[in-house]
Parts: sequence; structure tokens; C-alpha cells
Amino acid sequence: METTAVKKYGRTPWQVMLAEAIQAMMAEMVDRGVVPAEHVAETPRRVVDTFVELFSGVDQKPEEVLCTDFIEEQYSQMVTVRNIPFVSCCSHHLLSFIGTADFAYIPDGRIVGFSKIPRLIEMFARRPQVQERLAEDIVTSFMRIVRPKGCAVLLEAVHLCMCIRGIKVSGAITRTTALRGVFADDAGAKMEFISGCKGLGGTEWLR
Ligand code: ZN
Repeated sequence: METTAVKKYGRTPWQVMLAEAIQAMMAEMVDRGVVPAEHVAETPRRVVDTFVELFSGVDQKPEEVLCTDFIEEQYSQMVTVRNIPFVSCCSHHLLSFIGTADFAYIPDGRIVGFSKIPRLIEMFARRPQVQERLAEDIVTSFMRIVRPKGCAVLLEAVHLCMCIRGIKVSGAITRTTALRGVFADDAGAKMEFISGCKGLGGTEWLR
């Protein structure tokens, strides 16, 4: 196999090493006659591209996503954004987990544009993650930057590392929640949020 794909692509040390490792793996497959060389000539570059995309949130900060101009507003009821799709990558196996997020906050004098919330979730999802920390990252940064009375997120996901390797349970859905402020302190607020969460219900295509 050519080394041009590696040389052309290596922008950082890990990208060069990953491209070289993938190239070596596929070269062995080609040598053993299980895959045609022309099918995998660009595979090292594609794999590196994929991880660059999956980890694009590493170079972003939550302040950049949330801190535009906050809108001063006396609205003080719960704001919820439900059924936000996300794709993340488990830091244990580097396989994707795919799911939905339900998010809520109770403003304390200022609100954020609705579109900021999916962007914040996307930013943290596009990092090597475990689902528990993803939930914590989202609410911790939102509380710190926006300073609402409370913030909550519920994530439901299907993990490829459970579906395709190890225990191989393709229908299992994992749920994590993170609750802060009034959602942690007030059982009524917590119940109102959790009971309205649909999670992955309605996305049977994932199962
Ligand atoms: Zn995993």
C-alpha cells in the first residue's frame, strides 16, 4: 500500500500514528487477500477524518457556545428542550453512542436562545466521553455560565460497544441524569422534569 495517504494527512502526531496503524492493519488484510487494495487506499485518511469530526468539541469552550448576549427576562418557569439528538464517542472503546437528550432549566433573571442548548450538548458530546460525565458536563457548565435557579438533563443512548462487542445486547438503552439547583432540591421540579422525558421512546430504529 502507498504511504501517501499517511504523509498527506498527518497534521498532528496522533493523526500520523493513527493513520500509520490503520494503514498497517489494512495492509495485512490486503496481503491476506480478504480485501482489495483499492477499497482501502484512503481508509487511513477516512479513519483520521472520522475521529477529528467525533472529537471536534475538544477545541471548543462552553463559554463560546453560551456566552453571547444573555437576554434579561423575568420569565421564571421551567424551560425545556426535549428530544435533542446527539452522537458521542465512548472513551473506553472509541465506539459511538447515539441517543437523545431532554434538557430543562429555570431562569433566574436571564434566558438563553433555544438553539444554544443543542449546541452545548453537541459540543460536549463531540469529545471522548462516558455517558455519566456527558450529563454532568452539560449541567455543570450551564449552571456556571448562565446561573439559573436549576438545570437538569436526561440522556438516553444506545452504545455500540454494548451492541457489537462484549455482551452484545442490541436493545439495551442506558439512561443518565444530572440535576442541579432546584431540580436537585425540590422533588416536585424533579418529578415534573423526569415525568415529561420521552428519552429514546419513538426511536425504535435504534433498537
Ligand atoms: Zn464503551
